Amino acid sequence: MTPDRDELIRLLALEDFTPVYARADAVRRESVGDTVHIRAILEFSNYCRRQCRYCGLNRNNRTAHRFRMTPEEMLATARAAHQAGYRTLVMQSGEDPWYTKELLGEVVKEITSWDMVVTLSVGERPHGDFAYWKQCGATRYLLKHETADPVLYDALHPCGTLEARVGCLRALKALGYETGSGFMIGLPGQTLSTIADDLLLLKDIGCDMAGIGPFIPHPATPLAHQSAGDPALATRAVALARLLLPAAHLPATTSLGVLDDAEKQHVFSCGANVIMKKVTPDAYKTLYEIYPAQLGHTDIPAERRALEQQIRALGRNPL
Ligand code: SF4
Repeated sequence: MTPDRDELIRLLALEDFTPVYARADAVRRESVGDTVHIRAILEFSNYCRRQCRYCGLNRNNRTAHRFRMTPEEMLATARAAHQAGYRTLVMQSGEDPWYTKELLGEVVKEITSWDMVVTLSVGERPHGDFAYWKQCGATRYLLKHETADPVLYDALHPCGTLEARVGCLRALKALGYETGSGFMIGLPGQTLSTIADDLLLLKDIGCDMAGIGPFIPHPATPLAHQSAGDPALATRAVALARLLLPAAHLPATTSLGVLDDAEKQHVFSCGANVIMKKVTPDAYKTLYEIYPAQLGHTDIPAERRALEQQIRALGRNPL
């Protein structure tokens, strides 16, 4: 039976969550099997016109060194990822209108011509842009709602509304995109009821993908002195997302690994079936700092091989 709001709140607060993890793992196995999908993620611009109060890329952060990759650089990186065995590229940036719909469309057309799936994650854009990129070959779009509480949403996002964000997600679904959303655990002011609403919003939109990870404070943001989110609570939310959306793609998020690498392994036995690996070139990687993280040298083939080994060690099949 699918849990309702009251049941979700009760489950989130359980002392012993082990039976729910086991149920989520069984649902994952029955619905999407033992494959763990490895996605390459290319962060191609850290310019952003928005002011999200938790994010190091927000436009008010004057200490951030900004970069934009050229289409040629993007294609060279995408080609290297393809040669290393990746078959999905997530193209992510801040909300940066410098990349016109036509410019991004050309990049999408080229990459998808190599039999590579493109997921776009470039923020809120006119719905006509979404339609255009779909025609160019993009089939997936990620746009996290971050919190389903409209009051908290307004407090965290001086530009934009929850209504507009959800409107974009519904438009993406209507266009036929595999649509991904997601949210953070541990935002100041968030309660278990908020998390239940976050989960139910994913279901209401009919999300095909959902990224759920802990909030990590960035020192150059208004939330610098807040505490980080609880990784274990994030894992609980992933497990419940699996119960609500049995066939969805649910990643073990990078933020979870930043706070607690063991928890990132654990989440694969609690419903997760996707992992993303940065392929962003070294020159730009450390500048794409939504939250602080220790990042090593990018070696696309070696990192892919290492990840495949880790996934096999978990008894799962990398793809
Ligand atoms: S969360 Fe996204 S839209 Fe908001 S400031 Fe960061 S990069 Fe920009």
